[in-house]
Amino acid sequence: MKLQFSSVSPRVACTPEEWNDWRWQFRMSLKSEEDFGRYFSLAPEEVQGFHSQKNIFRAQTTPYYASLADQKNPFDPIRLILMPRVEETQSLHQEMLDPLGERKPENHPRERLIHRYSDRVLFLLTDLCSVYCRYCTRKHFTANDHAFVRNNDYLQALDYIRTHSGIREVILSGGDPLTISDSHLERVLSDLRTIEHVEIIRIHTRMPVVAPMRISEDLCRIIKKHKPVYLITHFNHPREVTVESAMAVEKLVDHGVPVLNQMVLLNGVNNHAAIVQALSRRLLYVRVKPYYMFQCDPSLGSDHLRTSIEESLRIQRELWGHVSGLAMPTYIVDIPEGGGKAALTPNFLTGHQGSVHRFKGWDGVEAEYHSPSDTRPPMDLESYQDEWNELKNSKASL
Ligand code: SF4
Repeated sequence: MKLQFSSVSPRVACTPEEWNDWRWQFRMSLKSEEDFGRYFSLAPEEVQGFHSQKNIFRAQTTPYYASLADQKNPFDPIRLILMPRVEETQSLHQEMLDPLGERKPENHPRERLIHRYSDRVLFLLTDLCSVYCRYCTRKHFTANDHAFVRNNDYLQALDYIRTHSGIREVILSGGDPLTISDSHLERVLSDLRTIEHVEIIRIHTRMPVVAPMRISEDLCRIIKKHKPVYLITHFNHPREVTVESAMAVEKLVDHGVPVLNQMVLLNGVNNHAAIVQALSRRLLYVRVKPYYMFQCDPSLGSDHLRTSIEESLRIQRELWGHVSGLAMPTYIVDIPEGGGKAALTPNFLTGHQGSVHRFKGWDGVEAEYHSPSDTRPPMDLESYQDEWNELKNSKASL
């Protein structure tokens, strides 16, 4: 079957120049019940969602992204991502404002910095996004109109990174870091590149999905100039991979920027192996590597969008053997309270006795693997210790 990438037609009166200008998309964002009501015939659950969502998480989307969602069907997958619903106020299971424990003082050494893993920090440049995804895990920070980090906090964050030589990766996140201007982004990337131990910069953004016109030649040149910069985007559904978004990510790849995708498994949106498979195939086709498939965090107001871990594992098992390793995202559960990422894989091991392990493969083939005997002469591990320590502490450079 041929992969179909459809083009998005504006559902609003505007010129092509306006439509293709990300700042126009941002200015014309749908924010109120009235705005959304002009695009969609709102269901009672959505109207109630608007009336009750003010205290939880505000709604906003670009006209472009709104045009991807069905106008009439309130259970359209993209509509479920962008539209508040009354279920957001009905807490039935576990719900947390900060499921990843990012606000804990030990994980939050400076304003806008989250330092959870020894070799990388998350730098929250802005709290603004072009869409407020109903399942967002960072509702404790996002959409509060703090905008770009204040200069003093910015300098303190840089100073922290500079004085912690173990930090090799800086992840620019938010909010969405590509809602800031090219000149601000250029400044951030240049400042980070003055810190010798920062090897990798990552930009985590939904812009290629919700406002692909943001990915301009100028932006690609800025990102390329500060390489190695990885861009991690966030497609959840194959319908989000449009001609426009495909062109945006291909532009980045053509400029030598590696692009990977993180998706979240969401009830009613993509919780079927066929949907994940179609998404992965499309992404791979436009040279985006499916990277993570996240279990939805128990974020406040997202209960109705979550799948059970059993269901997620079932989806992953169904994919195994049917998509190539390149197209297979790693299934991740972020352990609540800041416990870190746990990768779960299907268990193909059916038992073992001594050095003999028994397996049943994805298509039912059963076989044994015999480990080498313990009586082999051991490697002289100690003689390699100095070399290994040197390798571990060495800086990656050309
Ligand atoms: S784009 Fe990311 S940070 Fe913004 S609302 Fe969506 S999930 Fe949250």
